[in-house]
Amino acid sequence: MNECHVDGAAIIARYDAVVEKVADAARKAGRDPKDVNLIAVSKRHPAEAISILNKHGQLEFGENYVQEAIAKQEELAELTINWHFIGHLQSKKAKDVAGKFALIHSIDRLSLAQKLQKRMEMLPVSGVDGERKVQEILLQVNIGDECQKSGVDKDGLFELAEKVAAFPQLRIRGLMGMPPASCIGEEARPFFNNLRKLRDELETRIGVPMEHLSMGMTQDYVQAIEEGATFVRIGTEIFGPRPY
Ligand SMILES: *Cc1c(COP(=O)(O)O)cnc(C)c1O
Repeated sequence: MNECHVDGAAIIARYDAVVEKVADAARKAGRDPKDVNLIAVSKRHPAEAISILNKHGQLEFGENYVQEAIAKQEELAELTINWHFIGHLQSKKAKDVAGKFALIHSIDRLSLAQKLQKRMEMLPVSGVDGERKVQEILLQVNIGDECQKSGVDKDGLFELAEKVAAFPQLRIRGLMGMPPASCIGEEARPFFNNLRKLRDELETRIGVPMEHLSMGMTQDYVQAIEEGATFVRIGTEIFGPRPY
């Protein structure tokens, strides 16, 4: 029995306001609003909420938990959605996500990348030319330092990027990072600025284009956009508080 009530009108109203705020922040920062992609983070919200927003025109959705994400993908299979995996990924779950997400934001260690590459090799080749599928990924960096368990340390980033860049069926598109949870709004800015600098440095050092910076959530996306975010991941401000 589904007793969970989804207030579609409220979600759409909040979503429209967020879209406006994102575009505004981009323009104020002298950026083209088209260069800032909004990911609606739908974790713990029902598939119906995703469906409502998708019909309203939103294509990018972010999920954190493998089983929940796959269940929603199956339920909403007839819709055109670009799924983003943004949560911590256990190595044993790599097999479940390979090839199923437009972008995996949370690759933070070599063992995980290796498992993902192995799994990609097992997927059927596509089309008549027998081309192998490529999984686009971001490297998640621990920009918040102490207390954060996800993300590669700054010191390990270059080595990880070099090794992962050599995997034929993984393509690094950029970096993802989260400031410490206690740093909201302006306090988050230095962390975003840091991630951007790391990205620029990495691009020069390993010679692979890294156009994406996935940073900024409900509490700090304006600052993230000002510091160069190309993906902002917003849940609460669109869907309301997450049900437990
Ligand atoms: C939950 C989550 C978000 C969205 O957070 P809100 O504060 O609800 O906007 C974004 N990114 C990641 C990695 C998350 O886990």
